[in-house]
Amino acid sequence: MGVQGKSCGPCTMCCKSLVIDHFKKDAGILCTHCKLQAGCQIYETRPQICRDFECDWLMERTIPQTLRPDKVGTILMEDDETDQYQAVVDPSTPLAWRNPLMFKFLVSKAKEGKTVIAKSGLKSWRIYASGEWAPWSD
Ligand code: SF4
Ligand code: SF4
Repeated sequence: MGVQGKSCGPCTMCCKSLVIDHFKKDAGILCTHCKLQAGCQIYETRPQICRDFECDWLMERTIPQTLRPDKVGTILMEDDETDQYQAVVDPSTPLAWRNPLMFKFLVSKAKEGKTVIAKSGLKSWRIYASGEWAPWSD
C-alpha cells in the first residue's frame, strides 16, 4: 500500500515490464502469477523482492493520479545503486516515456538536479532540464 489515497488498483505494470531475477523473468514478459488487471495470484506467498518493490508513483503523494504507471506506460523509480531517477517502460512501447504528461514530469525532475534516465530493455535515454533528450549509456 502506498501513501494515503494511492494504491496499485488495476495496475500490474511492474509484474510485466521489469526484470525479475527470482523468476528468471525478462522485461516485457508477464509474470506467470499475474492476472492482468486483477493482480498477483500468489499475493500471500509472493517472494520478498515483490514485497519490497514500490514504485515512486505509489510512494510519492505529489505525483498525480494521471501518472499511474498503467495509464502512461511508464514506471517511475529511484535507483539507489546509480543514483538515477528512472522511467522504465515496457519494451513493446519503448517511447511511452514521451507521453506529454510524463515527459513534462521527467523534465521537472531533471530541473531538480536528478539524473533522469528512461529505460526500455537494454536501451536508455537521458532527459535534460532543457527539455532535450538523447540516447544514454552508463
Ligand atoms: S508499477 Fe507501481 S502502481 Fe503499478 S503495480 Fe507496480 S507498484 Fe503498483
Ligand atoms: S509474484 Fe506476484 S507480485 Fe511478484 S511479479 Fe509475479 S504477479 Fe507480480
